[in-house]
Amino acid sequence: MIIYLKPDTSAEKAEELARLNKAFLVHTPQQLLLVNASSQKHVATQTEDYMESFLVFGDDMQLSSRQHINHTREIHLDEIQIGGKSAHTLMIAGPCSVESESQLFSIGEFLHQQGIRILRAGCFKPRTSPYTFQGLGENGLKILAKAREKWGFKIITEIKDASHAPLVIEYADIIQVGAKAMYDQGILHQCGKTEKPVLLKRGFGSTLQEFVQSAEFILSGGNPNVILCERGIRTFETKTRFTLDLCGVAYLKEYSNLPVVVDPSHAMGYAYGVPDLAKAAMAMGVDGLLIEVHPNPPEAKSDASQQLTPGVFATLLDDLRMIAPAVKRTLV
Ligand code: PEP
Ligand code: MN
Repeated sequence: MIIYLKPDTSAEKAEELARLNKAFLVHTPQQLLLVNASSQKHVATQTEDYMESFLVFGDDMQLSSRQHINHTREIHLDEIQIGGKSAHTLMIAGPCSVESESQLFSIGEFLHQQGIRILRAGCFKPRTSPYTFQGLGENGLKILAKAREKWGFKIITEIKDASHAPLVIEYADIIQVGAKAMYDQGILHQCGKTEKPVLLKRGFGSTLQEFVQSAEFILSGGNPNVILCERGIRTFETKTRFTLDLCGVAYLKEYSNLPVVVDPSHAMGYAYGVPDLAKAAMAMGVDGLLIEVHPNPPEAKSDASQQLTPGVFATLLDDLRMIAPAVKRTLV
């Protein structure tokens, strides 16, 4: 249930009502809300005098629902805007990992020339083997910050576990929560305490409801700026790394109010399929694309098989810029 309190409700009263209704108290710029489990269908006594209205829900997808906000939320990164009425599709690009200053600066220079404004690269890598490259950690964050300084990028990088969450939140303009961390309550809790946008990736074994409920942890913690990222789920198929769930994307566009980004790189796992999937997602009118691009993919220290070369990425951008107007969108 979401209970919309009257704007003149005092902070003490709102906290008391939150306790009575076993609810989170969520402040938005326009509203004071109480949010509790979908199993609750009635407001507690004493609440009526202080509320404007309430909504009941069939499942625990409240703050992210179209019942609550009947359009896609607007997310602002200074002058860059996605969601809302923008009809923007945001291009988020960069290598899987920051490997060195020269590697990141080489791709940074290229992406800047291509007009890309969001640079993405991981510094704390959630690898499936402990013996492979784990990322440069804080040194990587410092390299990303230098690239931001030099070219004016917004940077997006990943929190792998809650131990370094404050550090990543301090450096990043957009915080990435990876597929393997989607259920990490420590990370979700910390992401709820900032207002920086959070790109939450779908766990590859997670249902859409589980995915959206992870977003609810961040939203109910007080951060309204959550972006969902579909990055492929595990199916019986083994020829591709994962299976990009475009049905899921259609569901999220219909029922959720959160912007949706598609990551074809991790879904496909092989560079050859990434442009086709990116074009399909663009044609669906998604709010963003996340594409891995590396100055020399065969030498990459993580996800070598799926990263695009600069040349292929440039051609893809040309194609996407042609598709965008056909679906009434602008690639930004
Ligand atoms: C990544 O973005 O490089 C990554 C590790 O992705 P995912 O969490 O989707 O596997
Ligand atoms: Mn990767």
